Amino acid sequence: MSEYIEKTMEWIKRTNPGQGVFVQAATEVLNSLEPLIKKESKYQKHAILERIVIPERTVIFRVTYTDDDGRPQVNNGYRVQFNSAVGPYKGGIRLHPSVDLGVLKFLGFEQIFKNSLTGVNIGGAKGGSTFDPKGKSEGEIMRFCQAFMSELYRHIGNTVDVPAGDIGVGAREIGYMFGQYKKLTGRFDGILTGKGLNWGGSLARTEATGYGLVYFTQNMLKRAGLGLEGKKCSISGSGNVAIYTVEKLYQVGALPITVSDSNGYVYDAEGIDLALLKELKEARRARLSEYVKFRPNAKYVSVSEYKEGRNGVWDVPCDGAFPCATQNELHLADIKTLYANGCRFVAEGANMPSTLDAINFMLAQKDFYFAPAKAANAGGVGTSGLEMMQNAGMTAWSFEKVDHRLHGIMNHIFELSYETSKEFGDEGNLVLGSNIAGFRKVADAMIDQGYV
Ligand code: GLU
Repeated sequence: MSEYIEKTMEWIKRTNPGQGVFVQAATEVLNSLEPLIKKESKYQKHAILERIVIPERTVIFRVTYTDDDGRPQVNNGYRVQFNSAVGPYKGGIRLHPSVDLGVLKFLGFEQIFKNSLTGVNIGGAKGGSTFDPKGKSEGEIMRFCQAFMSELYRHIGNTVDVPAGDIGVGAREIGYMFGQYKKLTGRFDGILTGKGLNWGGSLARTEATGYGLVYFTQNMLKRAGLGLEGKKCSISGSGNVAIYTVEKLYQVGALPITVSDSNGYVYDAEGIDLALLKELKEARRARLSEYVKFRPNAKYVSVSEYKEGRNGVWDVPCDGAFPCATQNELHLADIKTLYANGCRFVAEGANMPSTLDAINFMLAQKDFYFAPAKAANAGGVGTSGLEMMQNAGMTAWSFEKVDHRLHGIMNHIFELSYETSKEFGDEGNLVLGSNIAGFRKVADAMIDQGYV
């Protein structure tokens, strides 16, 4: 390992105590930059690694709202504006009790390179709060979103920072946040993406992450002379990314057989019932355990039955796996089980779902194909970029046009990542290819713009 990378990693570990997931994300990126750093001395000369791992700005604030009993409820709010070298800050807002500064720094850091890969000029950011939307009333959700925006509004803008959804934030929350922004500023600006279709949202944005994930996987398998037709696919998660991965997998002739939530997983050998999944998760916001009431042949396994340290959903034999739930949900023991059961590809829909040792295991298998999150799930934010373009042009494109552009973005990301892996002597290693390609564009822009 180059001394520059090693020294920077040591320094990152020392100066970010308690931020394990951020250190993990930085380790993955910096390790794969090795051949680039060796070839080009300019990145060290301009202290790019030291600069790129520190957010340009982090806003931490208090969010107070009143619950249905009139009591004050207090949460931490954050916006990490990580890098604006190639465009305005862009990235989602996550509402989940696991949110802290380390989680948002890992997500914001990943977002820099992911956004760079899309080819749309957007920088990297992430925000969120410890607020747990689970079990909250409609009124509580609205008052929380308004309180969150009451601080955030002064830090965003359509050429400054454009947040969007992530775990716990969908069209409903984006609507409440947008309403509050407009109330406070009197401006109808495209300051959020994932908006409602009647007021500036883009068709196909809801579907984009899942659809894009499948387009990317098709590219990856095609290069190996393989395809998705007839493949049994195991999916984790049951949010927006998982649902539209299932939908697109059916459209390309594959068979999605699992979905999961934080309480357990469903295994439906005949194929996940997409209409039922949407009804439960989108319309009724119900738990997945309800699924088997309507599909008695399917199996529901609750987390209490998972074996020690294992994610039960990965016990189901499949040809390919799509982790679409959350970070670090696919461990070394999981990938070894998947592999032993015949699984030959993993495509990441969630952000950093695989641990570092699981990734290393996948890269070491000659007959295995791995699509890393930064590249494979970039269709969501890529389509957010398309929403920004439509807003700037005061126009709305057809579903077909947006989907076509999304497909083009995913093809571009695959080609760029693949060609870059080849350029640096590790053909087919898409972790290396996507990290180097995403990094190079941002780093060169930082050099052009001087020491700021
Ligand atoms: N939260 C999504 C992501 O992880 C989308 C962000 C966006 O559209 O800005 O990429």
